[in-house]
Amino acid sequence: LKFIPILEIPFIKTTRKQFVEMLQSHIDKQEKSFVVTANPEIVMHAHQSDEYKKCLHKANYITADGIGIVKAAKIIGNPLPERVCGYDIMIDLFHVSNKKNYSIYLLGASQRVLQDTVEVVKKKYPGINVAGHQNGFFDWKDPSVVQNIKKTQPDLVFVALGFPRQEQWISNHLDHFDKGIFIGVGGSFDVFSG
Ligand code: UDP
Repeated sequence: LKFIPILEIPFIKTTRKQFVEMLQSHIDKQEKSFVVTANPEIVMHAHQSDEYKKCLHKANYITADGIGIVKAAKIIGNPLPERVCGYDIMIDLFHVSNKKNYSIYLLGASQRVLQDTVEVVKKKYPGINVAGHQNGFFDWKDPSVVQNIKKTQPDLVFVALGFPRQEQWISNHLDHFDKGIFIGVGGSFDVFSG
């Protein structure tokens, strides 16, 4: 695997297709992985906040979310093949999960958007097992969300708390889990259900 550093953020050199295949192999081996799809806003925030940078450095993979990152890589002479965005990866992973009957946990967004997202997922992808869901306006000190994920052991956890919260939540809690792909997907539930 090759990583291209931009402002101290190591971006994985991969296409969207290769990346999804790699995540699938992690799932099949029951491995744990933390994925950040980083746009320029995220890179700039990490540049300004050491605390947030530490969260990002706990990620196993950081992908180029946006043409700005791909352009920056080209300028420094270390090109990245294409952008690998959170929404696109989420949709690709839904497809794979449908085919392979993976279980997913949906964390984030308003209760309304979350309910709609769960409904659309179940309708469009009947092969997916929705292990659980929780809206994004919960008390982080309440252990029940972590307990619920630990109990249901989902293959994938989509965290739609928006940036920088989603990366903070994942990096704060990752140690509690033995398996699962944890990925921050920003406002993707709103887009998907709308
Ligand atoms: N969100 C959430 N909990 C919060 C704040 C936001 O679940 O405490 C959700 C919000 O409902 C939306 C998503 O996070 O579905 C993205 O929010 P926002 O547009 O603020 O973030 P961005 O798209 O800039 O990452």
